[in-house]
Amino acid sequence: MRKIINEDIAKCVGCNRCIRVCPVEGANHVYKDNDVIKVSIEPERCIACGFCIDTCRHKVRFYEDDTEQFLSDLRRGEPISLFVAPAIQVIEGGMQMLMWLRKQGVKKIIDASIGADICTWAHIRYIEKNNPHAVITQPCPAIVNYILKYKHSLIRYLSPVHSPMLCTAIWMKRYDRNTDAIAAISPCVAKAHEFEQTGYVKYNVTIKNLMHYIRDNDIELPEQASGFDNREAAFGRLYSMPGGLKENLEFYFGKNLRIDQAEGQGVVYESIDAYAEENPAMLPTVFDVLNCGEGCNLGTAVEHNISRFATHSMMDDSRKQILKTFDRDYYNRMLAHFDQRLNMNDFIRKYLPMATKSMAVTEDLIEEGYQRLHKSTEIQKTFDCAACGCDTCYEMAKAVMLGDNIPENCIQMLHDEITDVLNIAVSNISTATLLENDISEIQEQSGTISEFMITLTEGITKFETISKSILSIATHTNLVALNASIEAARAGIHGKAFAVVAEEVQSLAAKSKEVVSESEEISKKSQKAITAVNDLLTNISGSYEKANISISVLNQSLSKIVDSIDIDLDAKKKIADTTVSQAQLPESVTLASDDSDDYDKVPEYTH
Ligand code: SF4
Ligand code: SF4
Ligand code: SF4
Repeated sequence: MRKIINEDIAKCVGCNRCIRVCPVEGANHVYKDNDVIKVSIEPERCIACGFCIDTCRHKVRFYEDDTEQFLSDLRRGEPISLFVAPAIQVIEGGMQMLMWLRKQGVKKIIDASIGADICTWAHIRYIEKNNPHAVITQPCPAIVNYILKYKHSLIRYLSPVHSPMLCTAIWMKRYDRNTDAIAAISPCVAKAHEFEQTGYVKYNVTIKNLMHYIRDNDIELPEQASGFDNREAAFGRLYSMPGGLKENLEFYFGKNLRIDQAEGQGVVYESIDAYAEENPAMLPTVFDVLNCGEGCNLGTAVEHNISRFATHSMMDDSRKQILKTFDRDYYNRMLAHFDQRLNMNDFIRKYLPMATKSMAVTEDLIEEGYQRLHKSTEIQKTFDCAACGCDTCYEMAKAVMLGDNIPENCIQMLHDEITDVLNIAVSNISTATLLENDISEIQEQSGTISEFMITLTEGITKFETISKSILSIATHTNLVALNASIEAARAGIHGKAFAVVAEEVQSLAAKSKEVVSESEEISKKSQKAITAVNDLLTNISGSYEKANISISVLNQSLSKIVDSIDIDLDAKKKIADTTVSQAQLPESVTLASDDSDDYDKVPEYTH
């Protein structure tokens, strides 16, 4: 199948909005590129609903169509005719654009509303002939893609009647005998798939890209508007509005036929899922489904250059005009005309299921997914904030196990991890404070040691003074002993005993000198040791200062981390809250649909 939705991945910021709006599991693949989360498309699973294009604020997603090829082939002279979706009529300058295309060489311009009339006729005759239990309408190729890829059990309910656009193309080829290549001026991105599957239409020229081309190339449009080369269509013009098919069928069948409607993002695919699970007895005869909440007039490939209310007003005027102009007689004549001219089988299509990657996982794997997401408690497993793009944590656990998403994309897991870091930071602040206190205590004790060292130094200084005094006394004593021994020698035998005493005194003086000398040695060593201890204390004191500064810086940083994480958590919480309100968006879409439902039932419309 042709890849329609494309991306400029460099622009992706990993906001996950595309996953949230995507109706298909696994159509988006989350991965990390240099620590930045990116989300890319899985073309095989994409159904081309176009929701992610509108929702992406970063202009990552875009679609491809055939506008360039069509204009280039036209310039080369290839014979091309086209049919135009009714949406062109609610675009400012739309009919002038058609006139410009005529001037570029387009052969015929057909209003696709004629195909819508044929589509209604074919539905009426199919229902009358087959009395089907339940039919799902199929004007939207994205919905057909969804059923062919993911809801095979519903293929039997898909209406076999071609879409209004295809009915137009078939009418052009088979009944108007048009041999030109056929281009569709279309409001829908996914039509390219329908054209590819059925083979009648060569170019899907989307209204949006055609308008861009005209604007980007400064093309001046002619003042005159173009008309169509076919007779005016009737009720088919209602088709491009939500509930258009329903109005058409009710015009014929009245209210006896039960027709349920579902339209738009967040509603239609969920309704189809519910339909597949429903008791068949509960199903409506016709399930009228549209991919776009406001119908094809505001389709996926329409640039809304007038406001939605102005569009609704134009559609309302058009509806009133149609209901005023065409009555039941006209309707019956139109059906009779088609009965005579058309072969029902020409407008019937067949469907083939498409194979896609299996998304089945066992409950054991889901548990493993929860583990990878660090989810163990019930609250963690059912946090369901949808920030990761998945609607529930269960879906996320599954996506992680299928490799479609990554655990780092779970805001709750990040929240818990940040909380852990926060707790560590808080406990580190306490540890740093304790350390600071310990260091102050050691600093105080170092001060005391310093004081002791001063006392010790003073003691040693006094000791040195005393040693010097002792040395001086010993020197004098030695001199006295020397003199005494001289006098003892002079006294001869009478001084003998005195000589012994003098000798002893001399020896004591010599020993005193030795002791003093040893003390001086000890004193010097002690002095050196005290100097070393003092130097050490000075160094330690410097280190305390540095350690104190570092701890204080550490404390400040940790406090900042704690504060910023607190702020971060608040911000994350806000994101989660926003996400929840975004996740609730479908309900507002439902309301819008409900509104337009009321709008459909304007008083003029009574049957
Ligand atoms: S919407 Fe999707 S594609 Fe766009 S920026 Fe966000 S994650 Fe990326
Ligand atoms: S186009 Fe639709 S199906 Fe495809 S990725 Fe986007 S949202 Fe999903
Ligand atoms: S907590 Fe939110 S972000 Fe995490 S898996 Fe669940 S839904 Fe996704």
